[in-house]
Amino acid sequence: MELQKLDYKLILVGDGGVGKTTFIKRHLTGEFEKKYISTIGVEVHPILFFTNYGPLRFNLWDTAGQDDQNSLGDGYYIASHCGIIMFDVTSKTTYKSVPKWHKNILRICDNLPIVLVGNKVDISDRKIKAQQILYHMRHNLQYYDISSKSSYQFEKPFIYLARRMTGKTDLKFVEPPALLPPEVVLTSDMLAKLQKTKKTQKYEKDLESI
Ligand code: GDP
Repeated sequence: MELQKLDYKLILVGDGGVGKTTFIKRHLTGEFEKKYISTIGVEVHPILFFTNYGPLRFNLWDTAGQDDQNSLGDGYYIASHCGIIMFDVTSKTTYKSVPKWHKNILRICDNLPIVLVGNKVDISDRKIKAQQILYHMRHNLQYYDISSKSSYQFEKPFIYLARRMTGKTDLKFVEPPALLPPEVVLTSDMLAKLQKTKKTQKYEKDLESI
C-alpha cells in the first residue's frame, strides 16, 4: 500500500559550525532542487527517498547561517513534522547548546519526533564520547553518531523519522540515496571504535521498534 502523505517538513538546528550545511549538501538532488524562501531567509532542500511503501520526501529546512537561537524566527519552526538537532562531537560547547535548541523547538512544536545527531565522528580527537551522550535518553529522543564528510550513517536519521512519521515500523529505503562521494574515509579501526555501548544499543532498539 502506498503512503497517504508524501511531504514532511524537517527542521535542522544546531550551533554554527557543527556541520549542518555539509550534511544537507551531501544529498545531490536536495542541493540541486533547493528553493529559497525570501520572507524568512531560509533554503528548503527536498530530499526524496524511495521506500518499500513508495516515495517519501523530507523538505529539509536550512537555517542558512542564522545559527543564533534567538534570531531564528518562529516561522522556521511552525508546521514542522519532525526535527534533527546536530552537535559536533569535537566541541563540548555545541553539545551544551542541545537543551537550548530542544527547548526552542518545543516552544513552537508540540510532541515532535526529534533525532539528535553527533557529527564529525571521523575526527579521532573526539571530545564527547558515545558514553557521555545521555541527553536523548532523558528526553526520549533518538541518537546517532554521524559524519557528514564521510556520509557515515547519513540515512539513519531519515529512516527513523520516516518510520515515526508513517507509523510503518518495517519501512525501508529500497534505493540508496544519491550522495556526494565521501570526503574522508573511515578506517576499520575507527569503525570498530564507533561500536556503540550495549546500553545505547538496547535503547536504540527499543525506540526503533516504536
Ligand atoms: P554549519 O555552520 O553547521 O552549517 O557547518 P558547516 O557545514 O559549514 O561546517 C563547518 C565546518 O565543519 C566546515 O569546515 C566543514 O568542512 C566541517 N565539517 C562538517 N561536517 C564534518 C564532518 O563530518 N567531519 C569533519 N571532519 N568536518 C566536518
